[in-house]
Amino acid sequence: MSAIAAPDFWTSIFRGWRGRCPRCGTGSLFSSFLKMQSTCPSCGLALEPYRADDAPAYFTILAVGHVVVPMVLAFEKYGEQPPLWAHALLWLPLSVILALLLLPRIKGAVIALLWTQNAAAPKPSAGGSAPLS
Ligand SMILES: [Zn+2]
Repeated sequence: MSAIAAPDFWTSIFRGWRGRCPRCGTGSLFSSFLKMQSTCPSCGLALEPYRADDAPAYFTILAVGHVVVPMVLAFEKYGEQPPLWAHALLWLPLSVILALLLLPRIKGAVIALLWTQNAAAPKPSAGGSAPLS
């Protein structure tokens, strides 16, 4: 058994944002770009029960939209009606780059949030769903 003291809430969230285990802060959360490790390689915390599902994608879209859309509107208003190719050349790469930068960080923070709230997904039952009668 490891005797690691639980860090405070914001420390855990920040560790998750950095892609690190929310409990020890040294083990990596991800084995590849967005693939979660099943356990922390440093402290052995079981990470598999903490499933972020669609929340990281939702928060990433929310954040990227709140950055890019005002810039598009300002560019349209003060840029004297730039052509559509100028919009595509600017905003498509910016949106993709921002999403790729934010998505793993937000996923790590969501995993850390789930861990701090002890919101692990229940283990699937061995027999699957209950039979209908
Ligand atoms: Zn750990």
